[in-house]
Amino acid sequence: MYSAYDHLIERLVTDPEYEVRIDGTVWSKALARKSGTWRQLKNRVTEQGYIRIQYDQRPLFLHRVMYRKFVGPLDPKAEVHHADGDKTNNDPANLVQVTRSEHRVNHPRSRNRWGEWN
Ligand SMILES: [Zn+2]
Repeated sequence: MYSAYDHLIERLVTDPEYEVRIDGTVWSKALARKSGTWRQLKNRVTEQGYIRIQYDQRPLFLHRVMYRKFVGPLDPKAEVHHADGDKTNNDPANLVQVTRSEHRVNHPRSRNRWGEWN
């Protein structure tokens, strides 16, 4: 489930109506059509402490969005690890793509309902 919406992430990062910024904020022009100004998408924090945004009526993990936008291509079979252990720190320098087994080594105990570790 952790990569179920990677195709939407691909669309988001090239969508001219949206802007993903390096500070982890995501802005939509479409949301504010009348004023013509960009509006920031609301962040939601999941029970597991991950930040999610809503795009095309689907929830996307912000750490995967940030990785794709600022670090490199997403491997659908890989997970994105927060190097400092802070699941809300989505600075590109804090994000590392790892295989599931590599990730398990980093997080021997905690695993969330989507099978993803922080
Ligand atoms: Zn991790």
